[in-house]
Amino acid sequence: MAKVTFRTDECKGCGLCIDACPKGILKLSEETINKKGHHPAECADPDACVGCASCALMCPDCIITVEREVERMAEKVLMKGNEAIAEAAIMAGCRHYFGYPITPQTEIAAYMAKRMPKIGGTFLQAESEIAAINMVYGVSSAGKRVMTSSSSPGISLKGEGISYLAGTDLPAVIVNAQRGGPGLGGIQPSQSDYFQATRGGGHGDYHIIVLAPSSVQEMAELTIKAFELADEYLMPAMVLADGTTGQMMEPVSFDFEIKEPPAKPWATTGTKCQRPHNIANSLYLDPEKLECINNVRFARYEVIKDNEQRAEEYLTEDADIVVAAFGISARIAKNAVDAARAKGIKAGLIRPITLWPFPDKAFKKAAEHAKRFISVELSMGQMIEDVRLATECKVPVELCYRVGGMIPSPQQVLEAIEKAAKEVK
Ligand code: SF4
Ligand code: SF4
Repeated sequence: MAKVTFRTDECKGCGLCIDACPKGILKLSEETINKKGHHPAECADPDACVGCASCALMCPDCIITVEREVERMAEKVLMKGNEAIAEAAIMAGCRHYFGYPITPQTEIAAYMAKRMPKIGGTFLQAESEIAAINMVYGVSSAGKRVMTSSSSPGISLKGEGISYLAGTDLPAVIVNAQRGGPGLGGIQPSQSDYFQATRGGGHGDYHIIVLAPSSVQEMAELTIKAFELADEYLMPAMVLADGTTGQMMEPVSFDFEIKEPPAKPWATTGTKCQRPHNIANSLYLDPEKLECINNVRFARYEVIKDNEQRAEEYLTEDADIVVAAFGISARIAKNAVDAARAKGIKAGLIRPITLWPFPDKAFKKAAEHAKRFISVELSMGQMIEDVRLATECKVPVELCYRVGGMIPSPQQVLEAIEKAAKEVK
């Protein structure tokens, strides 16, 4: 399942990897002396290697490579959410990552820094977020799968580049592990970039696809889905996570079927004198041309709204009180819904998985019988506006929230459900 290899000639025999190995299978070779004159490290029992990569992480000279058979790996691996995003991106064929460190997503950059050089990919820590997103623009123009990641203030800096990607109809994946705000805020979890993400994030008329994972498994699944949707609809896609989903560790399976990326005849890869030039461009000085392009793009958005809405519906069929929550809030809300059901209250949960397109259909259906909606958010009330739009204000929608990096407890959500249940009796 795992293979550990050493660039033996570069080993200085410090033994740090030996101490780090939980299986005790590394040792310094007794027979071999390398070019540096050291007895290099080697693996005494390759079959016993579990691929934990502790040795590679410990090696000061980065000369150890651990290859895990994550492709179609049926067993689950314990990983942080941020690491799952990075590994899933690699599985999806992303070989170019550009970023800039910012908590709480830095593990993505750290993972890519370790993995990309070993698989022939490119990791580059750019001089700024603005530089990173423009490197993404360049690679995407050349038709390659590419990703960047950041956290709230960093995403704001990327706004101009995201708008350029959208204006050029280029696919790319952007991860936002949200932190509290506004301003520099704090590193604790938040969902207050909902407006920024679902309304595009930069200037001009456009949307990006926004996916909201609520588990480490979904951090991986939705990253792969983000690459697929970005390529299919020629637009940026964002994985909108938060400090909790990025930092928490859960078992994750990478047993995914990866689809071949589509052909990209529009890519700026050089004509070889065999076709007209392809131009990646978002500058249109002719207003009629720009209007026409925007109309075409928005017609495509209507197709996406029809085809790509995703939501988890939990106990909604007969629910009087429907809780709306995404990401980490949904996990808390689900506990509260279960507790409410145990008390005889008909409560249910809709968990939007796509935030853009917003899953209107699920909310419209629930609004046919629900008497009250409660939007549970780590913001001052942003998704609540989409819940009201989706339900055409036919049913009252209330807000249950915490902000500043605070998370509502299941008890707080349960109390909101109980209060609503009393009022609608
Ligand atoms: S990957 Fe883990 S188990 Fe394998 S040799 Fe390295 S430290 Fe030991
Ligand atoms: S940590 Fe690196 S340099 Fe040190 S013994 Fe192990 S492989 Fe060699």
